[in-house]
Amino acid sequence: MSIRKILIVVGLAAGICPAGSKLNVVTSTEDLAAIGREIGGDHITIESIAKGYQDPHFVEPKPSFLLKLQKADLLVVVGLQLEIGWLPPLITQSRNAKIQPAQSGYMDMSQFCQILEIPQGQVTRAMGDVHPLGNPHYWLNPDNGRRMAKALADRFSSIQPANAAQFAQRYAEFDKHLTEAQKGWDAKMAPYKGRKVVTYHRSWPNFCDRFGLNVADYVEPKPGIPPTPAHTLDLINLMKREGVKVILVEPYFDLRTPNSIASNVGGEVVVLMPSVGGNKEVTNYFQLFDYDINLLVNAFTKLK
Ligand SMILES: [Zn+2]
Repeated sequence: MSIRKILIVVGLAAGICPAGSKLNVVTSTEDLAAIGREIGGDHITIESIAKGYQDPHFVEPKPSFLLKLQKADLLVVVGLQLEIGWLPPLITQSRNAKIQPAQSGYMDMSQFCQILEIPQGQVTRAMGDVHPLGNPHYWLNPDNGRRMAKALADRFSSIQPANAAQFAQRYAEFDKHLTEAQKGWDAKMAPYKGRKVVTYHRSWPNFCDRFGLNVADYVEPKPGIPPTPAHTLDLINLMKREGVKVILVEPYFDLRTPNSIASNVGGEVVVLMPSVGGNKEVTNYFQLFDYDINLLVNAFTKLK
C-alpha cells in the first residue's frame, strides 16, 4: 500500500475527510445550509432537510430525508429542541454512526450562538411550549450568523484539514461582506428604533433585539399554541392602548386571525421571511435581511 493510501485509510478511521473528496454536509434548515455554502464553497456538498417555506418546528418526515442522512459526513442542526418533533428518529434510523448526537459528525449550532429567552428555573414543555430551552430562532440576528459561519469554518477544517486555509479565507470574506451589509441594514432601521410590533410566533426576538424593535406581544398565546379568542381580544386591546400597528407573521401561518386583528386596530400584517428559501427572492443569508428590512421599512413608512 502506498503512503498516500495509508494516510487516507488512517484519515478515514479518524473521521477526517481526504482533501480530494467533497465533504457531504446535511443541515436541518436552509439557513444553516446557506451559511455553510458560503464557507464551504466547492469543497463541500451541502443540502438542507427542511425547506425555508416550512415551519421548522413541524416538518413531515419523508424517506428521502433518510437517504440524505445515511450519506452525510456532518449533520448540522439548530438545536434547542427546534427539530425535536421530526429529526431524532431519522438520525437513529439512518444508522450512520458519524452523525449520531455526541459524535464528531453531529453539530448543534446553538452551542456557538447567543441565545435569548432561556427559561429560569424548571425546564418544562407545559401547555405545548415549543421553546423550552431558550429561543431557537437565533439565526435571525446577523451577529449570530457570523458566529455560525466561524463555527462551521472550524468544524469543516477539523474534518478536512487539507482545506483549512480555504475555509478560513472564505470565513474572512463572509465576515467582511456581513459587516458591510450590517451597516446598510442598521442605517435603514435606525429611524424606527423603539417601534413596537406584535409577532405571530416568537420567531423574531433576535431580529428585534438586533434592530431595536420592541415586541409588545404575540398572536400565539404560547409558542406553538394557536390563537384563542380570549387572547386575541386581549391583544387587540393592548395594541389599541399602546398604538401598535404592525403584526409580523411567518409565511406558514393562517392569516385570518392576524388580518382580523389588523383591521380592528387600523394596522397592517407584514409577512416576513424567517428563513432562506422561503421564496424565490431569498436565496442566501444576505437576501434574507434585505428582504425583511425592506418590507418593514415600507410598512413603518406607510403607517407613520
Ligand atoms: Zn419557535
